[in-house]
Amino acid sequence: MMPFWQLCKHRFPVVVLITFALLLLLPCFTAAQKRGKVTSPLQVTASTSLPHTTSAISEFMPHVSAKAIAYQRTSRWLAITGKIWYLLGLWLFLASGVAAKMQSSVRWTLHGRSDLVVRSLPPSLFQIVAYITAFAITMWIWQLPFDLGFIWLEKHYGFGTQSILGYVWDSVRGIIFQAPAALLYRAGYEMLYRNPLRWWMPTWGLGSAGLLFLFVIQPMWLAPMFNHYSSLPASPIRQAISELARNAGIAHAEILVENTSIRSKHVNAYVTGIGPSARIVINDTTLAALPQDQILAMVGHEIGHYKGRHPMLLLGSSIVGLGMFLWCLALVIDSDWFNYKWGIHSNYDLIMLPAISLAAAIFLFVQAPIESGISRNLERRADDYGLHLVNEPEATARLMAGFAERDLADPDPPMILQFWYGSHPTLHERITTALEYRDRHINAGQSR
Ligand SMILES: [Zn+2]
Repeated sequence: MMPFWQLCKHRFPVVVLITFALLLLLPCFTAAQKRGKVTSPLQVTASTSLPHTTSAISEFMPHVSAKAIAYQRTSRWLAITGKIWYLLGLWLFLASGVAAKMQSSVRWTLHGRSDLVVRSLPPSLFQIVAYITAFAITMWIWQLPFDLGFIWLEKHYGFGTQSILGYVWDSVRGIIFQAPAALLYRAGYEMLYRNPLRWWMPTWGLGSAGLLFLFVIQPMWLAPMFNHYSSLPASPIRQAISELARNAGIAHAEILVENTSIRSKHVNAYVTGIGPSARIVINDTTLAALPQDQILAMVGHEIGHYKGRHPMLLLGSSIVGLGMFLWCLALVIDSDWFNYKWGIHSNYDLIMLPAISLAAAIFLFVQAPIESGISRNLERRADDYGLHLVNEPEATARLMAGFAERDLADPDPPMILQFWYGSHPTLHERITTALEYRDRHINAGQSR
């Protein structure tokens, strides 16, 4: 019988497909379990049907205007074609020989020769920095039509507030801040050099440490390079939020305001960071646009993420995803999929970097339903926590309806898109959850 490792190597596509098929089922199981589970002592245990919830939904369901439909269609078209365009760009970059020419130029500029001995050794850190910077600039130019398309769309519908110059400055900073990733790539090449068979294991360990570092520093060091963060100014809303945090047992938690309005008018809030950098961030647009009860409903949901340590769970799932990717990469790296194509002559070629980027983009596309399923599960938990903490289900339902009416989000996106990319339950589902909560806990309490 063929050993498992050999089987994986020879039947690679089948093994990957079966693994993904099994993982795809995972979110279905966890969601089914969640629906049947009592999550809080406040929740009524009887799972009786709620006859008046259905009729009440229509009262809270948002009106989807022709303007909203046009906005959703255009943004969906931009997002889907933009992803295909990106994959096409990566493939063309490799297949057209631009990637190989860029490698020769980098070697020529840094070493005065473009070929040869360098192939049998891992590239230097300077080579990697130069190559990934040139590669990032090329892909930025390739993606420019779609980026500009999004900027036009957001401005056209009255959401975008950023100038083209501001966008260019954001992109320059983005390209500069990706340069430190060269350290990780350099270490990956080194592991491959020292242990050509099991290189992916130490690389995974190192990559995981890198991810942990990134999750911790991102809110403290990286995010402030793009936005300004401040404490909530003294106000009735600050008092109400502090009381909510106290009731949740997180009076110490950092709650900050982000100047989102420099780029967009969309309302939002989020939880980010791990350990010393854990924080709840409210967009200034939210404070400007929403009434107090809806802000509290939103913050209650975010406290649910904070208390549930959801950023930590996301870090865990990113580490598992990285391990799966590196394992898959180790299986194909010596096959004809990679070698002797696109001018790749050795695993130490710089062209391996865009080739691995293409592999990563395909991997991310294939695993998106798993990632989205996990995210929807965490969002349902945060919704549930927020409803119990704030106890304002009608404000929650109006908040969700507002995402459709004011921000023009689709309350019922096409099923396949929701399955593949839906990071949250649909707005329709979230409004129904809030109204079911009201009927279980508030209306039921009153009629007793
Ligand atoms: Zn959330």
